[in-house]
Amino acid sequence: MEKILIVDDSPVQAAQLKSILENDYDVTAVQDAKEGLSLASERNYSLILLDVVMPGMDGFMLLKTLQEEVITQKIPVILITSLSDIEHEEQGLTLGAVDYITKPFHPLIVKARVRTHIKLYQYRKQVEYQSMTDQLTGVANRRRHDRYSLVKWQEATRLHVPFSICMFDIDYFKVYNDTFGHPAGDKVITAVAQTAADRLRRTTDFFARYGGEEFVAFLLGDSASCAFEHLQTIRRSVEDLKIPHNPKVSQWVTISIGGVTVIPRGDLSYSSYLKIADTMLYDAKRFGRNQVVWAGESMQQWLERPQDQQQVQEMKEFV
Ligand code: GH3
Ligand code: MG
Ligand code: MG
Repeated sequence: MEKILIVDDSPVQAAQLKSILENDYDVTAVQDAKEGLSLASERNYSLILLDVVMPGMDGFMLLKTLQEEVITQKIPVILITSLSDIEHEEQGLTLGAVDYITKPFHPLIVKARVRTHIKLYQYRKQVEYQSMTDQLTGVANRRRHDRYSLVKWQEATRLHVPFSICMFDIDYFKVYNDTFGHPAGDKVITAVAQTAADRLRRTTDFFARYGGEEFVAFLLGDSASCAFEHLQTIRRSVEDLKIPHNPKVSQWVTISIGGVTVIPRGDLSYSSYLKIADTMLYDAKRFGRNQVVWAGESMQQWLERPQDQQQVQEMKEFV
């Protein structure tokens, strides 16, 4: 059920609106603008019905604040007021309200307008979701990564918590495509994406297809050793899918992972650490693939298979 928030200082008015809508929606009513603001940023409302004339912070001020906050700026707001003059209506719409209902209102009109704006909001959310989702695998796409990584990097900077960034890449994937065909390759990309996404499901985790057969993930709050171990589990679970590869290069489909853990500061950038993760991935490839290479908090390098580093000089690459 879609959630609606009513902010109206008159209990009678709020109760009246609530009774019109509560059969179809999950409705919360508050009498104070400040309380409305904090609720709006905590819960996922699909619509806010806002009274204009209130003591203290009025509806226009609350609307302006909602529009300025990233978390609340997309929630549609319908202003409800007895002010019927054109200037107020114009002011409300200019501030970003999607609609304006004047008192006394007719229940059927309120219902109809609410229904329309909720539908529009759902449609917008769906379009936005699709534009941020990779078509093939259903995981987040690069666009979502680019937006979300900066928000999360700032959050970790503020909270001083460790931030781990990692890049994944399927091993010898060109050979796989050449051997089994592009459609079979697509299935492998999907299987790898789903396997990794299943293990990166915490609210502090993020996983996306970065492009082609490359993926990117970041984790908030884990120590370097914890993240390093977790990514080794993910690497092993892809190997455990036992998807046959071309035996000339590998028995099963595998992935290489490069990562880095850092406690972000204001003078450090996400993109420079993404580059470090990519360098670690490059080393994982160089050291024999199917392994995780990590840069710890003081930028020391951790190898999953230290013995492979010596062998790499003698290794004959098949690509
Ligand atoms: P390495 O082990 O060093 O990563 O070698 P590789 O062959 O995996 O790397 P390379 O970058 O040379 O090749 C990547 C291949 O991934 C080439 C490209 O055709 C294939 N690829 C990229 N996107 C897709 C896709 O969407 N579907 C399929 N089936 N193949 C893709
Ligand atoms: Mg690649
Ligand atoms: Mg590859």
